[in-house]
Amino acid sequence: MQNFTHVSCGGIFMKPLLEIRDVSLSYHTVSGETKALSNISFNLMPSEFLAVVGPSGCGKSTLLNLICGMLLAEEGTILMNGIPPSPGDPRIGYMLQKDHLLEWRTIYQNVILGLEIRNEKTPEKLAYIEEMIDTYGLDKFRTARPSQLSGGMRQRIGIAQALINDPKILVLDEPTSGLDPAERAKFRNIIGGLSKNRIILLSTHIVSDIEYIADRIVLMKNGEVSLEGAAESICGSISGMVWECAVAQAEADELIAEHVVTNLHNTHGGVALRIVSEARPTADAVCAEPKLEDLYLYHFRRELGNEPYKA
Ligand code: ADP
Repeated sequence: MQNFTHVSCGGIFMKPLLEIRDVSLSYHTVSGETKALSNISFNLMPSEFLAVVGPSGCGKSTLLNLICGMLLAEEGTILMNGIPPSPGDPRIGYMLQKDHLLEWRTIYQNVILGLEIRNEKTPEKLAYIEEMIDTYGLDKFRTARPSQLSGGMRQRIGIAQALINDPKILVLDEPTSGLDPAERAKFRNIIGGLSKNRIILLSTHIVSDIEYIADRIVLMKNGEVSLEGAAESICGSISGMVWECAVAQAEADELIAEHVVTNLHNTHGGVALRIVSEARPTADAVCAEPKLEDLYLYHFRRELGNEPYKA
C-alpha cells in the first residue's frame, strides 16, 4: 500500500491530487452496526486511472461516496489538494451506479440540469455542453426522452452530466453493469479518452472492463484493501499457479470439485480447463500466464461461492 505524500515521477516530485488516509466507516441502523470500510489508505496522482474492484458488498460504493463528499468518514481523512471534498464539489464529477435521469425532461434538458440548478447557464458552459453532446454522439437524441435510449446511451448522458464542471476527478460507480458487450466496449473507449487529463476512479466487479485500461487496481475485500497495484503486478501474486489442461469428463468433474476453475470448454472427447492451484492439478497440466480474472476468481473464491468442494 502507498504511504507516501510525494511521488517521484521522472525525477520530479509530484504531490498526490487525492489522499485517502486510514479511512473507516460503519453504518448504524436499527438492525445493528455494519462495518463498511476499515483503514483504507491510498493516493491518487493527477491523470491516474484507478479501478476499485471487488464483489458486491465489499464497500466500493461507500468508498466512492466518501471520496465525493456524500458521506463523512468516522475515522481518517480524505483530502483533495489539501481540502476535504464536500457534497456537490465542482472538483469532482460523480456518476451514480443507477442513473437518475428525469423522464419528463428531454436528453438536452437532462444534460444541462446541473447548470440550471446552480444558475450557471453561461455561454462558455453551454458551449462546453455542445462539445460533449457532439463527442458522445448525443446530438440526434437531443429531444428524445430517457426511456427511448439504450443503457449505453443513458450511461453517456450520465458521463456528460458528471463532466459538466470539467472536474479534476471523475468518479464512476459500476458504470458498465447492465450494458451489453458492445456498449461496454464503447464505454471503455470513452473512459480511456477521458483519463488523459483527469483522475478516473471507477468501481466494478467486471474485471475484463478495466484489466487493460486501469493504471492501478485496488482489490477490496470485506471493507479493506486486500491487494493494490498495476494489473501485471497484482497478477504476479498467482504467478505459477494458473494451469491449463485437457481431461476426460469424469476427471473434469473431480477437478472442478477440488479446484478454482476459471474457464471450461468442451472439446472433442473431453473438457479443457483453466485452473488456479498452488500444485499442478494434473501430470500434463501446462502453466499459463495469470490474467486478472484468474486472480479475481481465486482471491474472492469464498465470497463468490467458488470455493472448491471439500468432502
Ligand atoms: P459495494 O458497493 O461493494 O456493493 P457497499 O459500499 O454498497 O458495497 O456496502 C458495503 C457494506 O455496507 C455492505 O455490507 C452493505 O450491506 C452495507 N451498507 C451499504 N449501504 C448501507 C446503508 N445505507 N445502511 C446500512 N448498511 C449499508
